[in-house]
Amino acid sequence: MNKGENLWQTALQQLNETAKRINLEPWIHKKLRKSKRELTVSIPVKMDNGSVEVFTGYRVQHNITRGPAKGGIRYSPEVTLDEVKALAMLMTWKCAVVNLPYGGAKGAVVCNPLKMSAGELERVTRRYTSEIISIIGPEKDIPAPDISTDSQTMAWIMDTYSIDKGYSVPGVVTGKPIAIGGSEGRSKSTGRGVVYTLLNTLKHLNLDIEGKKVIVQGYGKVGSVVVDLLSKEGCKIIGVSEIDGGIHNPNGLNVGKLWKHKKREGSVAKFKEADSITNKGLLQLKCDILIPAACENQITKDNASRIRAKIIVEAANGPTTPEADKILKEKGAFVVPDILANTGGVTVSYFEWVQGLQSYFWTEREVNLKLRDIMTKAFYKVWEISLKEEISMREAAYTLAVNRVAEATRIRGLYP
Ligand code: GLU
Repeated sequence: MNKGENLWQTALQQLNETAKRINLEPWIHKKLRKSKRELTVSIPVKMDNGSVEVFTGYRVQHNITRGPAKGGIRYSPEVTLDEVKALAMLMTWKCAVVNLPYGGAKGAVVCNPLKMSAGELERVTRRYTSEIISIIGPEKDIPAPDISTDSQTMAWIMDTYSIDKGYSVPGVVTGKPIAIGGSEGRSKSTGRGVVYTLLNTLKHLNLDIEGKKVIVQGYGKVGSVVVDLLSKEGCKIIGVSEIDGGIHNPNGLNVGKLWKHKKREGSVAKFKEADSITNKGLLQLKCDILIPAACENQITKDNASRIRAKIIVEAANGPTTPEADKILKEKGAFVVPDILANTGGVTVSYFEWVQGLQSYFWTEREVNLKLRDIMTKAFYKVWEISLKEEISMREAAYTLAVNRVAEATRIRGLYP
């Protein structure tokens, strides 16, 4: 099974188990097992050398019962339709866990952004937007950044969409630059949300944050923010990694110097005040808190028994496979699931969309306070369900999310 099929099977399995646990009506279960819409498009693009490449793009809307579809767009050479379907379903649950009035979606273009110029990326983005234009829009489906896309990508999508309509439509995407209607605090929001979730976790477990030894896998848009904020909270960041390898210092890394090193060298590898370590090795180091903030399928049945962290907060989407989850549970690790822990990004996306629709913009302080409020409320709800039903935080988050979507489905009824 390839990575995409794996993720899709996992997504279905998680839904099936939840359906059984909450006694979900079979018709709603059947409906939720399928995407609402799956669009595959060809994206012909003139490359810098004059040749034409035809890329493949996807946009999947899993569910729109609670509101417009919402979710990021990723650029990756390996991405498949199955992967996008699974991630779109995860977005439905994420939005429901934090109670945002959205359904779930995800998009992707099969390409290698590391091997493309800015001009080529712009042409791919604009043509992809044009190919999916009939199914996106502020009331239909609102894309955002994901792996290998950023605020510039969103600006190109917003511009292409607006030109088609004949007027500016900032609400068509979130994660835009501030100059064209982006929100203060959006770029750091996923990482900030992960930190709020960890603080809530420690509080409920009666533990102190001060001096906790933390390992973060990934030092991109999410991981780098988590590292910075947690070191300010008094944690010791003892390990960090990226695709090309990791670094480890049991006495704690100087995160200010690490940030400068990354800016200069383009990677955390070869940071002088630390030992080198592989990505695999990093996950297995002794630490208090492990934060996978890179990509899917990182903690699997092959390495789960060697994970030594007692608390794992999933900043990435789908970093733990179900088999690994069982092993971690048996070992007594406390896992805070992705659909709760990494919802800070989509929550501030929601704030950006609301601000855009009202043309009234908030300060970063307001954004962060509202984010903390929403994430704390969601954490508390999931925690309560977990205690009451004696189930894991992941199972509790799924119970909450699927119940919310099911309730909306039931009330709306089936047409015709
Ligand atoms: N791509 C992010 C995620 O996976 C953000 C989605 C959004 O803001 O719509 O949560």
